[in-house]
Amino acid sequence: MTKSLFEIAKPILKQLQAHQFEAFFVGGSVRDYIMDKEIHDIDITTSATPDEIESIFDKTIPIGRDHGTINVVYNNDQYEVTTFRAEGEYDDHRRPNEVFFVRDLYEDVKRRDFTMNAIAMDIDYQIHDYFEGQKDIQNRIIRTVGKADERFNEDALRIIRGLRFQSQFGFSLEKETYEGMYAHIADIAHLSIERIIVELKKLTLGRYVAQSFSNLKDFEAFKYIPFFKEYDISRFMLEMPLPFEMFVALLKVQQPAIDGKLAALKISNNDKRRIHRLEQLVRYMPQVHDKDALKLFVYDYGKEDILQVLTYLDVINHNDIVTISPLIINTITINEVVQQLPIISRKELNINGKDLIQTMDVPSGAWVKIALRQIECAVIAGDVKNIKEDLIEWVKRHVKI
Ligand code: ATP
Ligand code: MG
Repeated sequence: MTKSLFEIAKPILKQLQAHQFEAFFVGGSVRDYIMDKEIHDIDITTSATPDEIESIFDKTIPIGRDHGTINVVYNNDQYEVTTFRAEGEYDDHRRPNEVFFVRDLYEDVKRRDFTMNAIAMDIDYQIHDYFEGQKDIQNRIIRTVGKADERFNEDALRIIRGLRFQSQFGFSLEKETYEGMYAHIADIAHLSIERIIVELKKLTLGRYVAQSFSNLKDFEAFKYIPFFKEYDISRFMLEMPLPFEMFVALLKVQQPAIDGKLAALKISNNDKRRIHRLEQLVRYMPQVHDKDALKLFVYDYGKEDILQVLTYLDVINHNDIVTISPLIINTITINEVVQQLPIISRKELNINGKDLIQTMDVPSGAWVKIALRQIECAVIAGDVKNIKEDLIEWVKRHVKI
């Protein structure tokens, strides 16, 4: 088992304790440690209030002060330190009306979502496990802390989180937890789409996504999520992990009559661009019937993205997304074609718009772009060499305005 990240963060707990506060590691890092998985970030929970945390450490950032979270900067790394807290009533299925800072660890872990996420660990690696989280981990079970029905009613994101953990770990859902999810699924309509997307991105990448995706479908969860509610998700089978952007792109290609607006997902422009690109790439694939078409395809979309899409060929085939000729498009042919490409981007073309205007003696206009594309295709097809004089000759003979 790896202890290193905990060791590095130990002085923070020590310092809190030196000021007579309690402090523990908690949440995902402790869960992952018990499961013998790699730990990525560490959460610390303490009896010290935000003011007290700030007074103890030299460098702090009040990232979530209102709900008790202060980032402590230590050795150039940041650690989330959160005050023990209990939650008041919920009446919108997503946020407690009030949070109370408390001085008792038990109160803090009681408000956490699942038993495996409610385990605290002290500086000596002693485990404080009030809800039999370790036992559930051992038995590979996802179980809410307390009554599932109440916990999902309070915050419906926990439903998606539970399915996300199922996808990552392959655990089964304890009966009441499953039933609570089923009963409260419609409440996810009240959540902010950003919170849902954070979980969905992890869910689609989970090794055991087949089961949790099938649960999402059984619960008709997508009916309550912007963008996805436009689509018929029952037609989509997901049996292998894939990036969220790939999933969305494939869904769009599978159901082209539905014009779901990505804006509804409130994802970054980068994510949107990625989805568009993958969508175009996949849509184009059925048109690649021969080697020449493949050359242009590889030139236009790039080897990396095409090979990435090919890793999901099973998803594409099982879902009747597009028909791809496996003899034309495969890893070997793509790698072959890449070697043969005379240029890899328009920048390498030895002729530009200015040359064209001069050669044709016609003022600039839309024709320049069209002609450049024509030349590019001719170079890729090997009809003309990428040498300026040859290109000019070719233009004179082939470009019509
Ligand atoms: P990961 O390893 O992906 O970070 P995590 O369990 O640490 O998983 P976080 O979102 O980082 O997930 O949350 C940290 C901890 O906060 C959780 O382990 C859980 O104890 C608690 N928590 C997070 N979200 C909720 C929620 N919606 N309701 C109750 N407790 C939550
Ligand atoms: Mg975490």
